[in-house]
Amino acid sequence: MTRIGALRFPAAVLPPGHRELRLSVQAFLENESFEPRSDAWLSGHDPAFSRRLAEAGFVGMTIPQRYGGRGASWLERYVVVEELLAAGAPVAAHWFGERQIAPLLMRHGTEAQRQRFLPLIARAECLFSIGMSEPDAGSDLAAVRTQGHEEGTGFVVQGQKTWTSHAHRSDFMLVLCRTDDSPGRHAGLSQLLIDLRSPGVEIRPIRLLTGESHFAEVFLEGVAVAGDLLVGVRGEGWSQIIAELAFERSGPERILSVFPLLAELVRELGQDVDERESVVLGQLVARASAALRLSLSVANSLDQGNAPALEAALVKELGTRFEQETVEAVRLATPVEPRLDGPRPLDRSIAGAILTAPGFTLRGGTNEILRGVVARGLLG
Ligand SMILES: Cc1cc2nc3c(=O)[nH]c(=O)nc-3n(C[C@H](O)[C@H](O)[C@H](O)COP(=O)(O)OP(=O)(O)OC[C@H]3O[C@@H](n4cnc5c(N)ncnc54)[C@H](O)[C@@H]3O)c2cc1C
Repeated sequence: MTRIGALRFPAAVLPPGHRELRLSVQAFLENESFEPRSDAWLSGHDPAFSRRLAEAGFVGMTIPQRYGGRGASWLERYVVVEELLAAGAPVAAHWFGERQIAPLLMRHGTEAQRQRFLPLIARAECLFSIGMSEPDAGSDLAAVRTQGHEEGTGFVVQGQKTWTSHAHRSDFMLVLCRTDDSPGRHAGLSQLLIDLRSPGVEIRPIRLLTGESHFAEVFLEGVAVAGDLLVGVRGEGWSQIIAELAFERSGPERILSVFPLLAELVRELGQDVDERESVVLGQLVARASAALRLSLSVANSLDQGNAPALEAALVKELGTRFEQETVEAVRLATPVEPRLDGPRPLDRSIAGAILTAPGFTLRGGTNEILRGVVARGLLG
């Protein structure tokens, strides 16, 4: 058991067979060819890779077998995901569907939604994005202005989302919108699944510092959404999202985004490590392993059906701070020439990490907001 303030993180024991599971992921990866990169869970978008991974049984791990998944536990998924992240594998295409949409549908979806979407997610054949943030509603998510007006048996959606990761490469977007005029900012919000090929959807990719475009602005102009694409209870979108955040914030991806960089540093230094370098490496590895233990404890709690939102917020705050500090520590540990097209893998790796690192502590809720969540949760 680890305690941080009043928060408790019971030690989690990995399931039997976890070593074999790890080896089977490593064996799969040996037959794949990709350059390991930092932040691959967001930047490494390769639908064909995701489909091969799914065929090998490593996508939709926690989806029950009756819906085409593996019926595995969150701890087993944790083992698989840890290996994929450590390798810097391009897992972004199926990431949001597998990590968030599948558990959301298991908790709140109708039987018809589960039968329709879960097998597609498990095969990585249907790709999802998450449309929460808006130009004036990021940290203050309850300020969303996108409207879903009831029309006939469905809704007509009007509004704008921004920073939506991979919207331009997805089939569906889970949209948080206001469907009801209710008293209180958190009431009257609902979650709708929008087919991104619907008339009225316009998607404009946003160019990043790296020159890539992995997120986008999404304009919704009178988009018709069938009533059976409402997820969960109308007007209860806020509480559904709060539960979902535990899945979004607590995973090892909040710690291991820069693991390929760390691995590259170890390769570069080789056996001949001086005292300063070994201190830097030792500190980074110790911090990573401590944060991963906390993350594993949250995965265990999810397995038991809990929604550990405070613990997840703390894991993300610690983990993403570690990620950003790793980039700086590597720069100090060894001479590097950050260049995306540099000749050395370490130069390419650190260049990618430097350009993506500012987003680590923003996406999924900024660190200032997460500290507020933890403080309010603990102090009342
Ligand atoms: C790489 C990346 C991918 C993303 N992908 C998605 C996605 O797929 N879907 C999606 O919906 N969103 C996505 N986002 C958006 C992300 O969730 C928001 O950027 C984040 O919630 C912050 O909102 P904002 O950008 O509007 O900043 P703001 O809310 O305007 O905040 C600006 C600054 O003010 C601080 N601040 C704001 N309010 C407070 C407060 N009350 N107390 C203290 N400090 C405060 C913040 O911490 C921040 O430093 C992504 C962002 C990034 C960087």
